[in-house]
Amino acid sequence: MPGMHSENLHKSDARPQFWQLSMRCCQLAGSVDVAFFFIFLILGSPILAWINVISVAMYVYAYRAFKQRRNRLAILLIRTEVLVHAGLGTVLVGWESGFHYFLLMFIPALFVTMRARSAWILAACLWVYYVGLDVLMWYIEPLQPISSTALLGVHIFNLTVVFSMFSYLALFYVITVTRAHKSLARMATTDSLTGLFNRRHMIALIEKEMARHHRHPSNLTLMLMDIDHFKQINDQYGHDIGDRVLNAVSHSLKSSMREQDFIGRWGGEEFLAVLPETDLDQAAASAERIRKAIQALVIDNDGNKVSVTLSIGITLYRAEEVLSNAIARADHALYEGKSAGRNRVEMALP
Ligand code: GH3
Ligand code: MG
Ligand code: MG
Repeated sequence: MPGMHSENLHKSDARPQFWQLSMRCCQLAGSVDVAFFFIFLILGSPILAWINVISVAMYVYAYRAFKQRRNRLAILLIRTEVLVHAGLGTVLVGWESGFHYFLLMFIPALFVTMRARSAWILAACLWVYYVGLDVLMWYIEPLQPISSTALLGVHIFNLTVVFSMFSYLALFYVITVTRAHKSLARMATTDSLTGLFNRRHMIALIEKEMARHHRHPSNLTLMLMDIDHFKQINDQYGHDIGDRVLNAVSHSLKSSMREQDFIGRWGGEEFLAVLPETDLDQAAASAERIRKAIQALVIDNDGNKVSVTLSIGITLYRAEEVLSNAIARADHALYEGKSAGRNRVEMALP
């Protein structure tokens, strides 16, 4: 009897999970109806018991349709089952049975799966159906009444299933939204090729670090790195291998950073690292280690062994200066390294 569904979830990355959720609900709903079959047989209501057999068959069929990716058919079956079963259950056993609660599961499902306009229209139709059933049951007696104790049992059982399904649905959406939020935040702050922070995020991080520096002055070093003769790599091996080299260099750079350092892709084949609580000598030692690690890196591409070197310019951030000044100094040091033959670490004079 209970069911949740989707034809067209707007957040495409949540889609596979949503179909899985729908399939799980199908299993749960089918199992609940198997339980109802026995409950109503014991209660001496064969009509209700056999309605549940039809429902179970519909859920089995819907589940198979989901497996065959015939999602529309599956959804149609579930919707029909829930609407008819809730209506019949209410008319036969009475409003107190609580079968009508399952209709409420439609509300979140409609708004999640449809455009707002269609969802409002269908929600209004659902309201008419729901209120119509309610009013009808004010005026007529249940067609297949069961004892008041049995009615209370069915009522509590239905409430329990509906509570569980709403809780599960809420949890599903919290998880989906949290995942989507994390993935958006990652996309907004990282460079897709290298996985390093992008330039915009680096600026934000450095500005934070500069503000901290104003409050608690300490050594803060910037390290600008540029791959040597990278254009030749592209020219010789092609852009794809160039990309792989960039990726391998980025991984190596990232792994050589300490916990408190951060590194980003500053330009095409240029990287910027920020080293808090680090003086120039410490930074120079660290840059030298990085330079050697990149020199030793061999990127194997289907037998093509590619190696690159890195030139590095480092500078100490001066209190109160603007970021562009510090970057210009690091860039100048880097340029000196390039002029002096590349594959070198150069320090800007404090
Ligand atoms: P130098 O030693 O003076 O730095 O020489 P270079 O060849 O590394 O520098 P140049 O600025 O002449 O060329 C940089 C090259 O980096 C040119 C550009 O095509 C390449 N590049 C920039 N971004 C990417 C990228 O995302 N992927 C690939 N494959 N190449 C890139
Ligand atoms: Mg270069
Ligand atoms: Mg460059």
